[in-house]
Amino acid sequence: MQGLEHLEREIEAWRKEGVFRPLTEIESEQGARVVIRGKEVIQLSSNNYLGLTTHPRMKEAALEAVRTYGAGTGSVRTIAGTFSMHERFEEKLAEFKHTEAALVFQSGFTANVGVIASILGEEDVVISDELNHASIIDGIRLTKASRRIYRHADLDDLEKALKETQSARTRLVVTDGVFSMDGDIAPLKEIVELCEKYGAVVMVDDAHASGVLGKNGRGTVDHFGLHGRVHIQVGTLSKAIGVLGGYVAGSRILREYLIHRARPFLFSTSHPPAVTAACSAALDVLLEEPELIDRLWKNTRFFKEGLRKLGFDIGDSQTPITPVIVGEGAKAMALSDALFEEGVYAQGIAYPTVPKGKARVRTIVTAIHTREDLQQALDAFERAGKKVGVI
Ligand code: PMP
Repeated sequence: MQGLEHLEREIEAWRKEGVFRPLTEIESEQGARVVIRGKEVIQLSSNNYLGLTTHPRMKEAALEAVRTYGAGTGSVRTIAGTFSMHERFEEKLAEFKHTEAALVFQSGFTANVGVIASILGEEDVVISDELNHASIIDGIRLTKASRRIYRHADLDDLEKALKETQSARTRLVVTDGVFSMDGDIAPLKEIVELCEKYGAVVMVDDAHASGVLGKNGRGTVDHFGLHGRVHIQVGTLSKAIGVLGGYVAGSRILREYLIHRARPFLFSTSHPPAVTAACSAALDVLLEEPELIDRLWKNTRFFKEGLRKLGFDIGDSQTPITPVIVGEGAKAMALSDALFEEGVYAQGIAYPTVPKGKARVRTIVTAIHTREDLQQALDAFERAGKKVGVI
C-alpha cells in the first residue's frame, strides 16, 4: 500500500544516526532484576522507585477487586463508570496529599493535558519551565491561553515573565517537581513566593516526586513545607506507586471543574477495579512501610557516589534519577549495549527527549535493589564505560 513512504525515509535516517531503537521486551515481572532476551539483567531503567509493581499487598488487592468487581468498568466516569472505589480512593489520596480533593485520570500524561487545556482561556497566560515534561507541553499546545517559556529553573526569567503578563486574567506557572531527564528538584519555594507576589497560580507535576520526596512520599509540596500554597498538584500512579494513572490534587472547585471540562477525563473510560484497588493499597504501603523510601535514598547515595568515583559525568541530580551523560546519541546507545553485555539494562536517551549533545544513559535505582545488585552494576559501568571510551 502506498502513501506512508515519508515515514520509512525518516526511520532510515534514524538508523543511520544510530538512534533507532526497537522496543525492549521484558519477559519477567518488573523488579530489581528482569529477564530480557532470555538473559537476567539488573534493571536500572524503570520508574519502579519503591518496587511496588510486585508488592504482595497490591497484587492481592488487585486480585480481590477483579474477583468482586470484574475486569473493566464499561464506561467513562461521567456516565456509568464511577465505582465507589474510585471515589473512596480519591478521598484517601486527597487526605494523603493534605488537599481538599483529588481526581484520578487515566495517566499522568492525560492529567497534565486535561488540566492545562481546560482551566485557561484566551485571556490567560501559561508560564512554563523550558524542561517541563512533554505532557505539559502538549497541554499548553491545546490551550487557548498565551504562553511564555522561562529558562530552566531561572527565577529571574520567571519574574520577568510574571512582570510582563500582569494584564492577564490568570497566570498559571507550571513546573515539574523533579525533572525527569536530569533529576534536579524545582526551586518550588521561590517559585511559590514569586507567584504569591504577582498573584499567579502554581501547578507542580510531581510524577517523579510522588512516593519519593516528602514525608511518606507526599511529594515536593511536602518536601518544601508548602501545603496550602500550591493550587494544583499533578502526580502519577504509574511510577513509585507502581500501577497506572495520574491524579490532580487541589481544591474542591478545581475537582468539580475538571470533572465537567477536562476532556481526557470526560471522554475516556475509567480505571479497571484492579488498578484502583492496587493504587489504594499502595497508599497504605507508603504510610505503613516508610523504610522503603529510606532504602531508596540509601541506594541512591551509594550508586551516585560509585558512578562519580568512576569518573562519569552524572550532572546535578538530587534524586534517584541519575543521568550518565555521554554526548552524542550513538555513544549513549553504544554504552547501553555494552552495559547489557555486562548484565545491566539501562536505556540510552537521545534527542529529541534530551538536547542534542546531551545524550545519556539514564539510571534509576530502586528500594528493592540490593547492595550486591548495585555493586555489580557499578562494576559493569566501569567495564562498559572503558570499552566505549566514556571514562
Ligand atoms: N510527568 C512527568 C514529569 C513524567 O516523567 C511522566 C512520565 N514519563 C508523566 C508526567 C506521565 O506520567 P504517566 O506515565 O503516568 O502518563
